[in-house]
Amino acid sequence: MEKILNKIIDNNRYLIKEGAVADYIPALLKANPNHIGICVMDVDGNIYKAGDYTEKFTIQSISKVMSLMLALIDNGEDQVFKKIDYEPTEEPFNTLFKLDFPHTIKPSNPMINSGAIVTTSLIKGEGEERFNRLLTLIRTVTENPNISYNEEVYLSEKETGNKNRAMAYLMKSRGFIEGDVEDILDTYFKQCSIEVTAVDIARIGLFIANRCKLSKGDRICDNKTASILTAIMATCGMYNFSGEYASTVGIPSKSGVGGGILGTIPYKMGIGVFSPALDQYGNSIAGYGIMADLSKELNLNIF
Ligand code: GLU
Repeated sequence: MEKILNKIIDNNRYLIKEGAVADYIPALLKANPNHIGICVMDVDGNIYKAGDYTEKFTIQSISKVMSLMLALIDNGEDQVFKKIDYEPTEEPFNTLFKLDFPHTIKPSNPMINSGAIVTTSLIKGEGEERFNRLLTLIRTVTENPNISYNEEVYLSEKETGNKNRAMAYLMKSRGFIEGDVEDILDTYFKQCSIEVTAVDIARIGLFIANRCKLSKGDRICDNKTASILTAIMATCGMYNFSGEYASTVGIPSKSGVGGGILGTIPYKMGIGVFSPALDQYGNSIAGYGIMADLSKELNLNIF
């Protein structure tokens, strides 16, 4: 299996040159575009790794899966989806489009920034408590107590995240979010700056594949939560490329502008891929190629 993973990495390495590391968050420009890592974990306990799987990167939008999970644990599905919708969008991840349309009921889905800021606002706690609870959940689910956030990336996001700030204040004025906006944004910027490896995100994928059970069998949330997370990833997880990705790869996934892709195959496996050069949608360009090849090679397309 590791031979297959190495071969897939090598076959997709050329794509790096066709992408670019995210630059709209200045600290992300420091990422080494040549890194490529992968980790696959199956429900039988096998773990396969190849390439730069020990390299750390910031979780970015993949954190949206975890903030949705915690918002669901804290509030239940009905309350969460009173504030956001379940629907994919053809707009980019950081769009404000439609948020101010008088007929807009709510942000499209929890995988774009607006919806994610809402889910973060729904995490119970004040100030630091919200972030600390999310970090604890991420440490629990990854089974990695050493996970923390990157201060430089966090400060860089905080300094330059004016579009997210505009979005959050607009949503506050429309009643989509309640509470202190700066507090909520602070949690959001920090959660995006959490550092993980391909192994950590594969573990999140495996946890969801195992219907929210840890490797020793403890259940953190219910089966329904696993279904919601998987469905939302499959339909909205790869930004405005989610439809084509579902057709060509067929693995419920979530990407982040740090270059990570988290994949989950119900009852089967979790996958973590990392390569920081991105395509025009904000998805890891080699990561997409790797997921497509892996899906073909191992016959993983669930559709
Ligand atoms: N921190 C990033 C932002 O809010 C996350 C975006 C992403 O990974 O898609 O712009």
